[in-house]
Amino acid sequence: MDQTMPPGYPELSLLIDGRFIAGGGRPEQDVLDPATGKAFARLTHATREDLDAALAAADRAFQEWRRSSPVERARVLRKAADLIRERAPEIARGIVLDMGKPYAEALAEVNGGAEHADWHAEECRRIYGRVIPPRVDGVRQLVMREPIGVCAAFTPWNFPFNQAIRKVVAALGAGCTLVLKGPEDAPSAVVALGRIFVDAGLPAGCLNLVWGVPAEVSDYLIRSPIVRKVSFTGSVPVGKQLAALAGSLMKRCTMELGGHSPAIVFDDADVDRAAEMLAGLKYRNAGQVCVSPSRMYVHEKAYDRFVSTFTEAVGRLKVGNGLDKETRMGPLAHERRVPTMQAFVEDADRRGAKVLVGGSTLGDAGNFFAPTVVTDVPDDARLMTQEPFGPIAPIVRFSEFDEVVRRANSLPYGLASYAFTRSTRNATAISNAIEAGMVNINHFGIALAETPFGGIKDSGYGSEGGAETFDGYLVTKFVTQLN
Ligand code: NAD
Repeated sequence: MDQTMPPGYPELSLLIDGRFIAGGGRPEQDVLDPATGKAFARLTHATREDLDAALAAADRAFQEWRRSSPVERARVLRKAADLIRERAPEIARGIVLDMGKPYAEALAEVNGGAEHADWHAEECRRIYGRVIPPRVDGVRQLVMREPIGVCAAFTPWNFPFNQAIRKVVAALGAGCTLVLKGPEDAPSAVVALGRIFVDAGLPAGCLNLVWGVPAEVSDYLIRSPIVRKVSFTGSVPVGKQLAALAGSLMKRCTMELGGHSPAIVFDDADVDRAAEMLAGLKYRNAGQVCVSPSRMYVHEKAYDRFVSTFTEAVGRLKVGNGLDKETRMGPLAHERRVPTMQAFVEDADRRGAKVLVGGSTLGDAGNFFAPTVVTDVPDDARLMTQEPFGPIAPIVRFSEFDEVVRRANSLPYGLASYAFTRSTRNATAISNAIEAGMVNINHFGIALAETPFGGIKDSGYGSEGGAETFDGYLVTKFVTQLN
């Protein structure tokens, strides 16, 4: 096993009370390159003592940081944004090694993270309370918004930098401190983020990074009386488990969970444009995107043309190592996702669907699965009911507006959705009827720093980004005072 760290790859470590810590006889795990299956780095896990130290540091730091001026918080966040842009190429390279996405996508992810830091730097200066006119002369009534306290945050591997920074800047901007557990299988971007905040002048203890066995770390942190708020991005079953535990302890949650986004193409749409755009979005990050369009409902009059343009676009996708310039789709992030993809295709096949493109693994090494297009999939196939989180696109026909709305809304998920139409009437009707936290019509426009990102139904609650971003990190205090 060659564990020579690639050039530019950060030394993986915990970050506790401003100190980067690795080794010291603590448990460790390998980090694997999904393009080769080979281990190339080691990640140190936190012990119970480390978790206690991180919690104590976050608690102590909160007493100061909560009183810091928004101008000071903005200064740190803006400096972090500058450092992110400066270090983006090496962070992006680390992301490719850790989880396989093409380098250009990783670079865009990191630069997008800088925008989140910038925007939160601006918006944190606008966390206002209000004054309510009193009933009695001499009474002063104030509504104040205060930081909730120490947060425990858990972020996934599909956008390791972006998912982490969104939680970090929202918590810090609101005046909270946090203990963050990033993805053990894609840790380098989160370590780089910790380094950036230390270099940006964030006081020790405000941001702590820990690693370990996910269920053990989350259980320990959420049960700690120091933690007042839990933020998680990941799968629906894990989110429900963590929300249940947090709920039993009366702790606030933001839950950004999975989705199974319907993409509806009406017969009056620019069908070729819709097909090209959806093919581009579907295979981004090998389909491992919570807002990926994952159920294509195409009007029967547009169906043949859509399928033909979509499959042509898929045929042009170059699959390979994310570090190769020509690569447009990399491997799946984990070995365990490969049999999951296979099982989705086999289930659809058994139920009479047609596998038009792909459907199997690629190459002899790494977690490569071919970009796959499946048509005529029955609505009860696993592919249509469970989040695939991979490079498989099911395309089905519809004929009536009410019918497609019913089918699109039939699942417990409610994250993103897509519709393509030239009619303003259809566009308005579908955006009103669809059960989703986010609706894209004729383009992809979500996940910007200034717009709220979040789901409904089983896809979770709470928003990240937008003016709503601090709501989950603030509590309301009402003060009434007779002078
Ligand atoms: P998973 O449910 O095992 O893990 C998802 C993420 O949650 C991982 O980062 C994992 O480390 C973390 N996790 C798991 N159990 C945890 C626990 N008890 N406490 C804290 N964190 C925990 O699934 P997976 O195989 O890693 O990924 C596949 C599924 O995850 C997909 O079907 C998708 O729904 C979901 N996912 C969603 C997002 C998203 O952006 N919403 C991101 C990554 C994964």
